[in-house]
Amino acid sequence: MPEAAANIGVVGLAVMGSNLARNLASREGNTVAVYNRSRTKTDELIAEHPEAGFVPAFSYEEFASSLSVPRTAVIMVKAGGPTDAVIDELVRVFEPGDIIVDGGNALFTDTIRREKAVRDTGINFVGMGVSGGEEGALLGPSLMPGGSDESWVTLGPILRSIAAVAEGEPCVTHVGHDGAGHFVKMVHNGIEYADMQLIAEAYDLIRRGTGKSPAEIADVFAEWNRGELESYLIEITAEVLRQVDAATGTPLVDVILDQAGAKGTGAWTVQTALDLGVPVSGIAEATFARSLSSHPEQRIVSGVLPGPAEALVVADADAFVEDVRLALFASKIVAYSQGFDEIRAGAAQYGWSIDLGAISKIWRGGCIIRAQFLNRIADSYAQTPDLAVLMTAPYFVEALGRAQGAWRRIVSTAADAGIPSPAFSSSLAYYDGLRAKRLPAALIQGQRDFFGAHTYKRIDKPGTFHTLWSGDR
Ligand code: NAP
Repeated sequence: MPEAAANIGVVGLAVMGSNLARNLASREGNTVAVYNRSRTKTDELIAEHPEAGFVPAFSYEEFASSLSVPRTAVIMVKAGGPTDAVIDELVRVFEPGDIIVDGGNALFTDTIRREKAVRDTGINFVGMGVSGGEEGALLGPSLMPGGSDESWVTLGPILRSIAAVAEGEPCVTHVGHDGAGHFVKMVHNGIEYADMQLIAEAYDLIRRGTGKSPAEIADVFAEWNRGELESYLIEITAEVLRQVDAATGTPLVDVILDQAGAKGTGAWTVQTALDLGVPVSGIAEATFARSLSSHPEQRIVSGVLPGPAEALVVADADAFVEDVRLALFASKIVAYSQGFDEIRAGAAQYGWSIDLGAISKIWRGGCIIRAQFLNRIADSYAQTPDLAVLMTAPYFVEALGRAQGAWRRIVSTAADAGIPSPAFSSSLAYYDGLRAKRLPAALIQGQRDFFGAHTYKRIDKPGTFHTLWSGDR
C-alpha cells in the first residue's frame, strides 16, 4: 500500500479525469494519486503515461493513505448518483480538514446540499465548474471553484498552476461559497448554447441568402475571427464548415444529421432563470431550438404548413453578410448580458458575493466561450461594479447603436423569408423590451385584476387598487 506519497488525487479516470490528472502531474511539485471504480482505466493510464509518476490506488482506503494530510481529491465522475456514491466513500476514508473537490457538471443545488452534508463531518467540500472539454482539462481549463475560504487557501495555488492563462492571468477565481462555482459554470454553458445557436443562425442566413458554399462561409467566419467577434466558437465554426466528408466528398456539415444534442446544462440555466424571474430569452430560445431540431416526428417538412411564396434573394451579398455579422454581435451582447444578469440574481438569492468582472476574466482562456469580447465585459464591470444591465455599459451601448439597423433588417428579412432565427429575433425583442418607455404589461395587470382581483398599482398615486369591472358579479 502506498504511504502518503501524493499531494493531490483524482477519482474518476475517464477522459476528463485522466486529462486533469496528467495536467496536475505535469506541474512542478505535484505527485498525483489516481483511482477509478473499475481497475482497467487506472492500469491503462499508468501504462500510457509513465512520465506522470502517478501513484495508483485500487481501493478508497489505499487512495486515502497515498495522500499527504490535509488530503485533497478531485472527483471527475458522471454527475448525479455516481458523484454522491464517490463522496460517500471519500467521507468514509478522509478526516476533518481534508478537501473533496467535485469537478463534474453538478447541478448547483446538489452542490449546496452536498457541501452542507459534508461540512458536518469537518471535511471541506468544493463544487468546481471545469470548462474546456478534454483538451482544456489537459492543457489548461477555466476553473470555477466554490466552497469555503479555508479550502481556497489550499486549493488556490494548485488550481492557479493548472488553469489556462489569459493575458498573463490564470483562468481561475474563488467564485463564492458552496454552489457558486457550479452555478456560474451552469450559466457559462447556457451562454455557450446561445452563442452556438446565434452562429448557426448566421450561417443559415448567409447560406440561404447568398448561396455561398460551406467552404466560402468558412472564409467569412475566418475573417470575422479577426475582428470584434474573435472567439473560439467562431474559429472552430470555420473549421467545421471547411471539413469535407471523406466518404462522399461533400461538405461534412451537409451529411451531419440536423438534430442537436444536449446534456442538460442549458435547460438547467433556463429552469433556474425561470425560478429567479430573470429573462434569459436568448439562452432559452437556443435551448428550445435544440429541442425542436431533435424531434423529427414533429418537424413538418412535407409542406403542410404554408411558408412565404418567395425564396430569399439577396441583391448585395457583401452588405448582407455584414448585416448578419452585426446582428450576430448585437445578439451575442444580449446573450452575455442576460447570462450575467442571471449570475447577479443567483448571487443575491443564494447570498454569494460574486465578482462579475473576475468571472468574465476567467472565461477568457480555456473555456468554450473564450473570446476577446470578455475583456470588454471586464472593463465594463471595472468601471461600474454594480452595473444593473451589462449592455448599458458605454462600450456595448455604442456597439448596439452601430448594429441595431442591421439587426432589425436581418430579423425582418428572416421573418419575410420564413427562415427560423429564434435567437436573433428573441434577442432583439428583449432589447426593445428593455428600451420601451411603456410596456403592455399594464394591460396584463388589468386582465389579472378583472378575472382574479389580483389588484394593480397606478402611475399617479401610491397604493394598491382594484376596479369594480363591469363584468364583476
Ligand atoms: P463520464 O463519462 O461523465 O463518467 C465516467 C466516469 O465516471 C468513469 O470514471 C466511471 O467509472 C465513473 N463512474 C460512473 N459511475 C460511477 C459510480 N457509481 N461510482 C464511481 N465511479 C463512477 O466522464 P467524463 O466525460 O470524463 O466526465 C467526467 C465529469 O466531468 C462529468 O461530471 C462531466 O459532466 C464533467 N465534464 C465533462 C466535460 C467534457 O467535455 N466531457 C467537460 C466539463 C465537465 P468506471 O470507469 O468504473 O465506469
